[in-house]
Amino acid sequence: MALIVQKYGGSSVADTEAMKRVAQRIVDTHNAGHRVVVVVSAMGDTTDDLLDSAAALTDNPPEREMDILLSAGERISMALLAMAVNELGVEARAYTGAQAGIKTDSHFGAAQIVGMVPERVARAVKDGQVAIVAGFQGISKDDDVTTLGRGGSDTTAVALAAFLHADLCRIYTDVDGVYDRDPRLHPDAVKYGRISYDDMLLLARGGARVLHDRCVELARREHVVLEVCSAFSDAPGTIVG
Ligand code: ADP
Ligand code: ASP
Ligand code: MG
Repeated sequence: MALIVQKYGGSSVADTEAMKRVAQRIVDTHNAGHRVVVVVSAMGDTTDDLLDSAAALTDNPPEREMDILLSAGERISMALLAMAVNELGVEARAYTGAQAGIKTDSHFGAAQIVGMVPERVARAVKDGQVAIVAGFQGISKDDDVTTLGRGGSDTTAVALAAFLHADLCRIYTDVDGVYDRDPRLHPDAVKYGRISYDDMLLLARGGARVLHDRCVELARREHVVLEVCSAFSDAPGTIVG
């Protein structure tokens, strides 16, 4: 029995039909005898839509309120996904970043994780439930909601995997692995079966948004093995590590 962290990006939960497919994958993993912690991003373009709404109101949104606003996208996803999993007969509990004990500094919009106290997540898993955590967010020492920067749900997943000593952290996305170039722009891009942390970091820092650069730094430091794979197929992905 393994402890697996699964992270689903926005395109993997773009609508309720996609969310049902994700819920089935979670339930299948649970029913195969594994313990599952899920990190989920905001549905589809929700984060961009929230940014547009703020921009329609002001050129200078207060940073604190901006982070509360942006964190809402992932809160919607976590609640809906927990409902979809419960509907399939497996108990699931949704947690915000704050409830999952993800402590950050106060750098709104690009907060760094400074500590983890994921007691409620650990307890849920121990009780046989699936824990579903909102990605991309945490809580500062002043109890303000913070966000981790665009693409930051990947980092939430690796932080939980490291702290919970997960056997594997799977990043489910809309491509079936890491390529030498963006496969959407370059049809001749070549997929890696495995890529080292250092090479992945070069790609991420060079703008390959398939993984958040901080997530790769954290995975390297904490020795978290990542697998990047498609949420839409069962094909083997790319191992990062
Ligand atoms: P998610 O919503 O699942 O977090 P992202 O949009 O953040 O997904 O990342 C996946 C996207 O990263 C792919 O759709 C692809 O276009 C892009 N991408 C850029 N560079 C690469 C690369 N080298 N390998 C794979 N995907 C890449
Ligand atoms: N929803 C956030 C974003 O669009 C975080 C993420 O998807 O990882 O950047
Ligand atoms: Mg992403």
